[in-house]
Amino acid sequence: MEYISTRGSAPALDFAGATLAGLASDGGLYVPREWPRFSSEEIAAMAGLPYAELAAKVMAPFVAGSLTEERLLELTTEAYGRFAHKAVTPLVQLDEQNWLLELFHGPTLAFKDVALQLLGLLFEEFLGRTGQNLTIVGATSGDTGSAAIDAVAGRDRIDIFMLHPHGRVSDVQRRQMTTVLAPNVHNIAIDGSFDDAQATVKRMFNDTAMTGRFNIGAVNSINWARLMAQVVYYFAAALQLGAPHRKVAFSVPTGNFGDVFAGYVAAQMGLPVERLIVATNVNDILHRALTSGDYSQGEVTPTAAPSMDIQVSSNFERLLFDLGGRDGKALAEQMAGFEATKFMQLTNAQREGAAALFSSARTDAAEMSAAIRWGWEHCGEMIDPHTACGIHAARTSGIDPSIPVVTLATAHPAKFRDAVERSTGHRPGLPSRVGDLFEREERCTELSGDYAAIAEYVAAHAVPKG
Ligand SMILES: *Cc1c(COP(=O)(O)O)cnc(C)c1O
Repeated sequence: MEYISTRGSAPALDFAGATLAGLASDGGLYVPREWPRFSSEEIAAMAGLPYAELAAKVMAPFVAGSLTEERLLELTTEAYGRFAHKAVTPLVQLDEQNWLLELFHGPTLAFKDVALQLLGLLFEEFLGRTGQNLTIVGATSGDTGSAAIDAVAGRDRIDIFMLHPHGRVSDVQRRQMTTVLAPNVHNIAIDGSFDDAQATVKRMFNDTAMTGRFNIGAVNSINWARLMAQVVYYFAAALQLGAPHRKVAFSVPTGNFGDVFAGYVAAQMGLPVERLIVATNVNDILHRALTSGDYSQGEVTPTAAPSMDIQVSSNFERLLFDLGGRDGKALAEQMAGFEATKFMQLTNAQREGAAALFSSARTDAAEMSAAIRWGWEHCGEMIDPHTACGIHAARTSGIDPSIPVVTLATAHPAKFRDAVERSTGHRPGLPSRVGDLFEREERCTELSGDYAAIAEYVAAHAVPKG
């Protein structure tokens, strides 16, 4: 499979190249040149497969030319063997219509493990072939950092530098990063916000003094391989609920539009998806874009669902590209306008295309808390504040009662136990797999938000390309 940039001028790459590059050199994001499509019979034949086998089947067309299906199966077996539940992403029934897809059984308690456990193995595989070294630089508001660090700790040819805003991540999130003492893991707490950390990372990708010496790689969801791995659990859930003979709707707690875009990809591949509900918190740029076509960046308001406190959703660009006739030149102009003015109006084709599959809902603090209470009091399920936005959106969606609605449970309730306790009066216990997290030694470097100081730190500790 070949990968092309959404902005039309970067060279096409194979799967291995797109995985290692992360961002395209023209500032765009890589997407497959075309969507592979499964027939109804092919989808029916996937029913009942163990998760690792289903994953290899669904992803095989995307990795063709870079990995055989046999090798891919070895990697998915290793990645998903580390999950605490044999089903990897088990499905739980809440009421007649609503289901919960539990994506938090990986090592760091959020759905990001599903993709990052595999991505760590893919990096190692492709770097081993070229003999090159990779310097991963990322910014995190909590969940991506811990999942990425767990996935690459101790791996050959990889260094990871993870920036987080000092004092603004939860104690569980911080310790999941800073107690990993492998020598290739470098935690940096910066003075400033998540957006400041993110801006530093973007600047480093464009700093030729750095990119000339180091292979700078990405682990956030601009990396195509992450979205690809997330397509699999849409198939897993829908197959259990009767696909391809029955349609299924999904409600997806959304920040950077990565997880829900994976649902869009599943639909393009032939999975019968009735609707994708984009669930936002009060940081509702996507809800506004999908209801009125107005994509304009506001101020970020901190909420109890911090991984959705985002005002610019990077992966929305991939949808706009696909819906706008895959015209990279036109999209590059549209995105340049947005970057200059912080505002863009969707075209009619983009609005109508989105409306055919997506709807959206915004959840405020009181509604979030009510949804957590509903899960506990009516279904006996603890749900985290991110998942609560999905539940609120699902229950107010008005979808035909004969169609199952699956809400993606993106984090374990214990990862956000203070908020869950405030809503239910019960404190969720940490699962045993996090072990003695609160006893372990922490290691972290504190730096000011100054770009030069951060670049100097990375340059002093990273291994050059090779
Ligand atoms: C990252 C994250 C989200 C948002 O996912 P996107 O792919 O960025 O839309 C939602 N919930 C949790 C718990 C997360 O960690």
